[in-house]
Amino acid sequence: MPGMDMIDPFGRTISYLRVSVTDRCDFRCVYCMSEDMAFLPKKDLLSLEELDRLCTVFIEKGVRKLRLTGGEPLVRKNIMHLVRELARHLKSGALEELTLTTNGSQLARYAGELADAGVKRINVSLDTLDADKFHAITRWGHLDKVMAGIDAAQAAGLKLKLNAVALKGFNDAELPEMLRWAHGRGMDLTVIETMPMGEIEADRTDQYLPLSILRANLEKQFTLKDIPYKTGGPARYVEVVETGGRLGFITPMTHNFCESCNRVRLTCTGTLYMCLGQEDAADLRAPLRASEGNDLVAAAIDEAIGRKPKGHDFVIDRRTNRPSVSRHMSVTGG
Ligand code: SAM
Ligand code: SF4
Repeated sequence: MPGMDMIDPFGRTISYLRVSVTDRCDFRCVYCMSEDMAFLPKKDLLSLEELDRLCTVFIEKGVRKLRLTGGEPLVRKNIMHLVRELARHLKSGALEELTLTTNGSQLARYAGELADAGVKRINVSLDTLDADKFHAITRWGHLDKVMAGIDAAQAAGLKLKLNAVALKGFNDAELPEMLRWAHGRGMDLTVIETMPMGEIEADRTDQYLPLSILRANLEKQFTLKDIPYKTGGPARYVEVVETGGRLGFITPMTHNFCESCNRVRLTCTGTLYMCLGQEDAADLRAPLRASEGNDLVAAAIDEAIGRKPKGHDFVIDRRTNRPSVSRHMSVTGG
């Protein structure tokens, strides 16, 4: 029934929807994708109108925060049309926040439009400040474009948070510098443990850096004060006393935060994943297309929420030398 909260079998209220609007991307980050990714045929994609319709059903069912992600959300054709349509729910007050996670490559072009539509803050993924390393980790990306995007977003008045995946031997030594830089520009920084999702060329055991180690290293240079700050996501925050900025830790591997999970994830083909770390999913495209009304799809959503699992079972070690889930992060969008 529209307006009824979605509550899962473990009593968690689902109020946050993340929507992967495309599985495609203009980067090929080594921890996220393989070099020769096979993408979904375009005919399988939901149209922007269908995505809007599905998101609207979720909002009617109690979603208060919606994040567009991907793949790279800003490479989906006409993405600003969807953003502007969804922004009507901000104006009506049904939605508290409309936001996105982006690699920043197209931000210089879209920052102004995003701000005009009512987007207030966005996450930009950035793993290094070194142009050569940036090109190496993203395979196809150029740091200057992302920097121009960050400049444009700040100029447009968007609040930015940077996300960096912690990668052993790649950016661990650089994190103090990144922290000073981000905080110097008024941006929070969140570090993320790499998760075993999808086949990639690299060995994840080599990349994986538990954030407890990273934190201990940072504490040699900085005073980190635990704070109760929350953004509705799984990050735990500290204040860095020396910079006055916030640093978040997302630790799916070393600390299980599933007990407070408030989210589900929709893909660009209308598949709903109730957990990032599990294979189980519900198809919402068929009920969406089966009738013009939304009753069928609302019932399919209820049925799916009714089997949201308790948590994920991610493992990275030498014995478990395969991904915990077979799909890449770019499918469900992190
Ligand atoms: N393309 C956009 C971006 O890079 O921000 C949005 C999608 S991307 C899949 C979302 C986030 O997931 C990024 O911050 C990325 O670094 C992170 N990510 C990708 N693969 C990951 C993995 N295997 N483990 C942890 N984080 C990952
Ligand atoms: Fe693309 Fe984001 Fe994955 Fe990098 S992390 S390949 S930018 S989807």
